[in-house]
Amino acid sequence: MEIIVGKLSGFCPGVKNTIKKAEIALKEKKEVYCLGEIIHNGQVIKSLENKGMITVNNIEDIPNGENVIFRAHGEPEISYEKAEKKNLKIIDLTCGNVKIIHDKVKEKKENYFIIILGNKKHPEVIGTKGFSGKNSYVIESEDDILDAYIECEKSNLRQVYIVSQTTFGDKEFEELALEIEKNFVEFNIIKDKTLCNATEKRQKEVEEISKIVNSMVVIGGKHSANSKELAKISEKNCGQVYFVETAEELKNADFSGIEKVGVMAGASTPQKDIDDVINLLKEK
Ligand code: SF4
Repeated sequence: MEIIVGKLSGFCPGVKNTIKKAEIALKEKKEVYCLGEIIHNGQVIKSLENKGMITVNNIEDIPNGENVIFRAHGEPEISYEKAEKKNLKIIDLTCGNVKIIHDKVKEKKENYFIIILGNKKHPEVIGTKGFSGKNSYVIESEDDILDAYIECEKSNLRQVYIVSQTTFGDKEFEELALEIEKNFVEFNIIKDKTLCNATEKRQKEVEEISKIVNSMVVIGGKHSANSKELAKISEKNCGQVYFVETAEELKNADFSGIEKVGVMAGASTPQKDIDDVINLLKEK
């Protein structure tokens, strides 16, 4: 069985930077809190927690004056305000690509109704929404367009600025933005496909690989938006797709009769998990 491994598998620049800086902070400071899961990978979280990182879900749970990591997904503006009130020392690891989106929506929110294409519950989207002000709406699917339109009408703004979650699918952006344009005919619309370059390239590579293999293995956290997107793209092109977090989940998978298998990993998947899957596939 031939194994084709995506060259862009594994940690993206944003995640690499986050882990490196978190490790430095843990060496220098006694106690470091992280607001939410630092990345969507259980093993990485555990290893940093063993070095002293404390993960909390609410900023209120952090004692005043302590150090807090704002992770690569970014935080809404309110978290910065709360941190200041609590005198927290922020270690801001918001990915540069996400920061650019925050700056763009901050600049546009006075004159534009802001639409964010993405998952309403994803921390990155919650962060971007938090910088977009009250005249903004998150659209996950076509079903949300009418409600977004009603909110936009109420705002009295005549211009719409569309951005997206960095890990949103390229085609999904085009299709959804087109539907929005059809429904917001009387508005002046600016479309800004704020997809992350690393994500875009990875999605293109998985598209190419999944077209030429009989089976595809996507490795990534179950909550990882970019990994889920990789599995979705693979499913369109390939009849057999395994979406796993570790090699353990592949132990009983049947690859008999498979000539070519593709492997692609999401942005928060450590190299060890990728190597484990490749070794298991070699054994099979
Ligand atoms: S996927 Fe892109 S935007 Fe997200 S953390 Fe990685 S480099 Fe940054």
